[in-house]
Amino acid sequence: MRIVIVGAGIGGLAAALSLEAAGFDDVRVFERTSEIRGLGVGINLLPHAMRELDELGLASRLERIGVAPSTLAYVNRFGQPIWSEPRGIAAGYRWPQLSIHRGRLQLALLDAVRERLGDVVRLDHRLAGIEHGTDAELARFETATGAVEVEADLVVAADGIHSAVRALRHPDEGAPAWSGLTLWRGTALAEPFLDGRTMVMAGDGEQKFVAYPIGATDASGRARINFIAERRGAGSPDADWNRAVDPAPIVDLFRDWRFDWLDVPAVIAAADELLEYPMVDRDPLDAWTVGRTTLLGDAAHAMYPNGSNGGSQAILDARTLAFHLATAPSTADALSAYEADRRPATTALLASTRQAGPERVMLLARERAPEGFADVHDVIPPEELAEIAASYKRAAGFHPDALAARASLSVPR
Ligand SMILES: Cc1cc2nc3c(=O)[nH]c(=O)nc-3n(C[C@H](O)[C@H](O)[C@H](O)COP(=O)(O)OP(=O)(O)OC[C@H]3O[C@@H](n4cnc5c(N)ncnc54)[C@H](O)[C@@H]3O)c2cc1C
Repeated sequence: MRIVIVGAGIGGLAAALSLEAAGFDDVRVFERTSEIRGLGVGINLLPHAMRELDELGLASRLERIGVAPSTLAYVNRFGQPIWSEPRGIAAGYRWPQLSIHRGRLQLALLDAVRERLGDVVRLDHRLAGIEHGTDAELARFETATGAVEVEADLVVAADGIHSAVRALRHPDEGAPAWSGLTLWRGTALAEPFLDGRTMVMAGDGEQKFVAYPIGATDASGRARINFIAERRGAGSPDADWNRAVDPAPIVDLFRDWRFDWLDVPAVIAAADELLEYPMVDRDPLDAWTVGRTTLLGDAAHAMYPNGSNGGSQAILDARTLAFHLATAPSTADALSAYEADRRPATTALLASTRQAGPERVMLLARERAPEGFADVHDVIPPEELAEIAASYKRAAGFHPDALAARASLSVPR
C-alpha cells in the first residue's frame, strides 16, 4: 500500500515509525519546511505514549535525552501546596513519564525514521490540494521548484494545528479559537527546585506558572528548566509557535511570585528566548476521514496543553492507525476502526481540557481561598482532589490500571 504522510512533526514521524513496525514498506513523509530544525521548548510524554515508544524500541534513546519527573505538584500563587502525586514509575506505571525538548524529540524520531525506512522524508513539500479518486488519492504539493503530484492509497494528514488538509475540507473554520489566555514559553539554566525532578504548576485560572527540568544538572549545579508563564487577557490570538517577545514585562507580571523553593521572576528573566503563544484549540470534528485521507494529531484534535497531552495523543493516534491498517480486512474498515477508537476518546479529552483538566484543583483553591490557606484540606477535601486527578487520567487513557490492562498495539510480524 502506498502511504503518504503530510507533516514531519511528532505525529507524522510517529506514524511513519508505527507503519513500518506494522509491516508497511511504502511510506513517505512530506514536510513543508525546508529543514527540520527541532523547534519548540519542552513537552511531556505521558506513560501511555511512552508505552508506544517503548514497543517501537525507542524508549531508551529518548530517556537519554529527557528527564523522568518523579512528582507533579500543584501549588497556589503563594507557593502553598494543593495536590501532589507521583508520576511515571513512581506512580506504579510500567512506563515512565518523560519531560523532553520538543525539538530533540522530533530530531530523534527523524533519525529513527531515516535508520528504519531510509530516505523517505521529503522536505520543502507544502500540501496544497488533495483529490479523492475512486482508485487512489492524489496529493498536490508546492515546492521551491514547482508543483508535484503524488498518488497514494492512503493519505495521513499530520500537518498540525494549522492543517491544510483540514482547511480544504472546512474552509469556513478559520483560525483556532482563543481562550483569552496567553502562554510565554521558554527554557532557562537555573537551580533545580524541590527534589530536582518535580513538575510544578503554580497559580490558578487567571495566572499560572509551570516549570519542570528537561535536562540533567550540570557541573555548575544548574539544570535546563522548561517553563510556561500564563496570564489571561494579554497577548495576541495569532498562533505562531516561534514568536519571540521581550521577557521584561512578563518578569514584571510575576514579580511577587518568589517562593522559598523557586524564584519565578528570576527563572523567566534567565530564559534564552521567550516565545509567546495563545492558548488555542479547535472544536471537535464529526469525521476525520474523507475518501482514503484521514487526520492525525493536532490536525484532528488540537487541544489546550493543560494535562500535557498534545504530543502523547498524536503518538497514540499513530500507533492505533497502524494497528488497524495491519489487522482490518480493508483500508476502509481500518480507517473506520481508527476513528471509532480515537475520535470519541480525543473529543472527550478536548472537553476535559476546556474544563481545565487536572488543573481544576488550582481553580477550586483560588475560588475557595483567594488569599491562601494554612492547610488545603480546610478548603478542599482530599477525596475531591483525588477524584479530579483520577477522572482526568481515565479520560486521557492513562489511568495506571487501564493502561496495564490494555492489549498491545504492536502487530506480530
Ligand atoms: C515549530 C513548532 C514548535 C512547537 N513547539 C511546541 C512546544 O514548545 N510545546 C508544545 O507543547 N507543543 C509544541 N508544538 C506542538 C506539538 O508538537 C504538537 O502539539 C504535538 O506534538 C502534536 O503533533 P503533530 O504532529 O500533530 O503536530 P506538529 O508537531 O505541530 O507537526 C505538524 C507538522 O506539519 C508540518 N506542516 C504543516 N502544514 C503543512 C503542509 N501544508 N504541508 C506539509 N507539511 C505541513 C509542520 O511544519 C510540522 O512539521 C510545536 C509545533 C511546531 C510545529
